[in-house]
Amino acid sequence: MRLRNKPWAKEKIAAYPQYIIPNPEQYKGRWHEVFGNENPIHIEIGTGKGKFITEMAKANPHVNYIGIELYESVIVSALDKLIEHNLPNLKLLNINAKELANVFAMGEVARIYLNFSDPWPKKRHEKRRLTYRSFLALYEQILVDEGEIHFKTDNQGLFEYSLVSFSQYGLLLTFVSLDLHRSDFVGNIMTEYEEKFAAKGNRIYRCEVKYPS
Ligand code: SAM
Repeated sequence: MRLRNKPWAKEKIAAYPQYIIPNPEQYKGRWHEVFGNENPIHIEIGTGKGKFITEMAKANPHVNYIGIELYESVIVSALDKLIEHNLPNLKLLNINAKELANVFAMGEVARIYLNFSDPWPKKRHEKRRLTYRSFLALYEQILVDEGEIHFKTDNQGLFEYSLVSFSQYGLLLTFVSLDLHRSDFVGNIMTEYEEKFAAKGNRIYRCEVKYPS
């Protein structure tokens, strides 16, 4: 993600606490109160400019969505979409995924989406990949029994690495496509990166895995 300096981003985020939740640790174990219902919670880690999570929230009003993004300068674009569509089932968090266990209680999340995660191709940066085993352990802490990870990328190296990482961790592979856009998969919602890379002719890889019960 190319980061543009947006000095006004912090102020804008602070002006919309109903959409980008400040101090989200205070809601650990109580996210259903924030949404005002008991619907399942699905989170996207590295939500970027928010196209995917906004369209998912529009299409699935009976699921609660939380988009998580590290950079203020990026999450403000997701905020703009949420202001425009005012979706009651979508919230945003401006946090690092490393903080997940401080923000969600055990079993509070039903599904995690990882879309076009940064590949960190150098071996010495392996621990930063969002499908590295320490992240899989973190996800296990907050997911329900048989909780799912849905993962998409155009990066073949990251995809192959992730399949191995999932398998070594003991996750069960329930869906895999090595060419999503030329498959019979129905209902795909494209992310910003997916649109960009698919337009260049890149193949899109997708899998679903679940934690054993
Ligand atoms: N998912 C979007 C898409 O497909 O268009 C954005 C993809 S972009 C390559 C990856 C995003 O993940 C960036 O916006 C980056 O800031 C965010 N990200 C990377 N590591 C993160 C972390 N540890 N916690 C939260 N967000 C992270």
